[in-house]
This record gives sequence, C-alpha cells and structure tokens, in this order.
Amino acid sequence: MSVGLDFRTWLVGASYLVAATLFLLGLQRMASPATARSGIQWAGVGMLVATFATFFLPGLHNIPLMVVGIVLGTVVTWIWGKKVAITDMPQMVALFNGMGGGSAAGIGAMELVRWSAAGTAAGAVPLTLALLGALIGSVSLTGSIIAWAKLDGRMDKRYTFPGQQWFNAAVAVATVVCAIVAAQTLAMPWIVAFFVLALALGVLMTLPIGGADMPVVISLYNAFTGLAVAFEGYVLGNEALIIAGMMVGAAGILLTRLMAKAMNRPISGVLFGSFGGGGQMQEIAGAQKPIEAGDVAAMMAYAERVVIVPGYGLAVAQAQHKIWELAQRLIERGVKVKFAIHPVAGRMPGHMNVLLAEAGVPYDLIADMDDINPEFPNTDVSLVIGANDVVNPVAKTDPASPIYGMPILDVVESKNTIVIKRGKGTGFAGIENALFYADNTRMLYGDGAEMAGALVSELKALDGGGH
Ligand code: NDP
Repeated sequence: MSVGLDFRTWLVGASYLVAATLFLLGLQRMASPATARSGIQWAGVGMLVATFATFFLPGLHNIPLMVVGIVLGTVVTWIWGKKVAITDMPQMVALFNGMGGGSAAGIGAMELVRWSAAGTAAGAVPLTLALLGALIGSVSLTGSIIAWAKLDGRMDKRYTFPGQQWFNAAVAVATVVCAIVAAQTLAMPWIVAFFVLALALGVLMTLPIGGADMPVVISLYNAFTGLAVAFEGYVLGNEALIIAGMMVGAAGILLTRLMAKAMNRPISGVLFGSFGGGGQMQEIAGAQKPIEAGDVAAMMAYAERVVIVPGYGLAVAQAQHKIWELAQRLIERGVKVKFAIHPVAGRMPGHMNVLLAEAGVPYDLIADMDDINPEFPNTDVSLVIGANDVVNPVAKTDPASPIYGMPILDVVESKNTIVIKRGKGTGFAGIENALFYADNTRMLYGDGAEMAGALVSELKALDGGGH
C-alpha cells in the first residue's frame, strides 16, 4: 500500500513540475504580442494539469464538493468570457483577480477554523503565512470588487470623506491587532473580527483611489493575489500553488513598479495619498472648434510628421485596423508616422499595445511617452483618437485637478492637433480637457472607426480615387 501511496505522491509531484514548467514557458511566450495567445494557452494547460493532479493527492476529502465548485466556476466563467464585450475586459479581469485573492483568503479561513477547533496550529510559520495570505487575499478581493465597480461606471471614481486616511490607518492597525491576538488565542471571535476588518480594509483603501492611480492599484491587487496564493500554498504544502502564486506575485510587483514609475508616483502615494489637491478647478476658456474629414485628410497628406495618439475610445470603437490602414496610406505618401502610447492609455496596462499589435502595427512605429514627448513641437499633425485624460494639459497646470501631477503626452505642443471623439464626453477622470479648447486644436466628431474610415476614403480621393 505504501508503494502505491508513494507512487501517487511522486506522480502528483511530477505533474506539478510539468505544470510549473508550462507556467514558465507560457509566461515567457506572453512577453511578445506575437506569441502571447499561445502563452496563455500553455499556462492554461499547466493549470489543468495541476488541477487534475491534485485529485490524486492522498487523503483528500470533499471530492464531490470540489467537483461542484470546479464545474460551477468553469461554466460561469466560460459563458461570461465568451459573451464579454472587448471593452468590458478590464472589469472582468479585475473581478477574476479579486476571486483569486478571495480563494486564497478562503483557504486561510478554513485552516484557521480547523486549527481553532483543534486548539493548536500546525506551527508558527504556517500560522503566520495563513494570516498574511488571508489579509492580502481579503484586501485583494474587496479592493478588486470596488475597482470593478469604478471601471464599470457603477461607482464614483473617487469617494473621499474628511479624516479618511486616519480612519483607514486605524482600521489597518485594528486588523493587524486582531491577527496577532487570533494567532495567539486561535479564538473564533478574533478570527472572525480579523476577516471582517481585512475585507473592510480592501473597500476603504480603494474608495479614494481614482483617475490616474487606478491602473497602479489594479496591478498591485494582482500582485497581492499572487502573494496570497503563494502563502496559502505554503500552508497547504502545495507546490503548484506556491509556484503559480509566486509567478503572479512577482510579475504583478514588477508591473506595479513599472506603472508607478511611469506615473511618477511612489506606491505609498497611490495607497495613502491621492492625486490633485482637491478644491475648485480652473475654468477653461474658449470653445471647441469642429472640422470636416476632408480638411483633416488634406492636412495630414501634406504633413511631414504625424503622430497618432490612441486612447480608450479606440478600444470602444475597435478602430485599430482602420487607423493602421490610414497610417499606411500616409506612409505610402512619404509622411513620417508614429504612434504614441501613454502607459495608462485605455483601461488595462498594455491595452493600446495589444490593440495596435492585433492590427499589425510594427513595433518600430510605436513610441512610448518619454521618447515621443520631445518630438511633439516638431510634429505637424497630432491625431488623437479616443484619448482624453492622457493628453490633458491640466495635469500640469491645475493643482486642483484629480490628475494633477500625472505625466501626460505633450500633444498640446504640436503644430496642429486633431481630436476624434463622439462628442463632449469626458474621460475616466471625468474632467474637461484644455487641449480640446486650444487654438490649434480641431475636433473631428464621430465614432473612432467611422472617422478613421472617412479619413481613409478622403485620402483615397486625394490620391485620385486609386487603390
Ligand atoms: P479616457 O478614458 O480619458 O477618454 C476616452 C475618450 O474616448 C472619451 O473622452 C470619449 O469621448 C472617447 N470615446 C469613447 N468612445 C468612443 C468612440 N466609439 N469613438 C471615439 N471616441 C470615443 O481615455 P485615455 O486612454 O486618454 O485615458 C485612460 C484613463 O483611464 C486614464 O484616466 C487612466 O488613469 C484610466 N485608467 C487606465 C487604466 C489602465 O490600466 N490603462 C486602468 C484604469 C483606469 P466621447 O464620449 O465624447 O466620445
């Protein structure tokens, strides 16, 4: 019998090794948009192997319950994933990430309840990691739900009240105190109080975060979920969870650091302070000046340098293919065209890069913020399509603005600016944009894909109806 058990344990261990290798290879493939899709599939297969192997672990209980959980989770997410509009992807990712944190917190809860009933824990290290994993997993769960509500437009972007930071700090301290007492006494009331406070902390921490800090906080919760899973993996003695969790945690921490650096913000500033000083924002003088597609096409056709600035509206309109067609026509005419990507354009880290890669835009035409900003004064036409907050000069000029201090693309410096958007809608931060009222800015109102299509047709007409 022991040989059979040993073999099963060995088989599960070997399968976890295979799964971990697939995770790693998958992650490596995700580094390039060309192989990213297969990278996700490889990692997915790794997760299937790990999940299947787990059923062979000796001494497993509640198998029917596990199967019900897996079937329910698979059916719901499969249908949801198939039906979700591409523009709602960020919300879905935020929610699924939160579920991962919640699952990790759930493991911590089960272990703590078990230890409480037995009157003793499995050791100081598992106890500490169970509590730590439960804390950050709970924060990630409720924090991600608030992030989802904000991204989905169901909640105010920034919810603040006087003394908020002190109140949050008090709740954080109370949570840690409950964790310490729970660790020492293993008493259920303290364990329950700890979870209630940890879940509340996630909500409280995320409420005041808005505008430019949202991308950083979303990737931070992603890192939290990974770490929580790794800690609880240690508690369960499950190698696959430890490896998968550490990989998500490490990738999330790197991404968070990159995003925070791009936003010029320390992580502590994101969590404990907010952008902008509050108060009355400055009035923006002037009016928005409309223009027709024909005039825009002519301006661009005879320009030397054109910079295209995509934003969230490009994703809404799914205009990436049309805008690349437009760029190709300009390039054929000898115009120097570049795409400028702001680190938080869109609603997900890397959102614009993915869309442009999908349309086939070569990487050497894509410039990031620091590289392109010095080039705007020499740019004849900047074509802003569906971008708003990331090109808003008030980030530099109005200390009361919720995006004050956020680095922006200096489109306002270019010789001429054309903005494609449907009307006078605001961006994620919900504020007016001074660029749209500038003297050398013209508004081309309409859906991003339709307007890009109209510009392509006008260029064709200029070329004598060719192609
Ligand atoms: P914004 O959200 O600021 O603006 C998008 C603009 O697109 C709107 O003003 C809207 O105006 C226009 N638009 C919407 N639909 C269409 C359409 N079909 N055709 C043409 N235009 C359209 O986008 P940005 O990319 O400039 O900024 C991103 C914002 O999101 C930042 O504030 C960032 O902090 C935040 N954020 C980013 C995340 C990330 O990871 N990237 C995550 C969470 C938040 P109109 O309605 O008039 O058409």
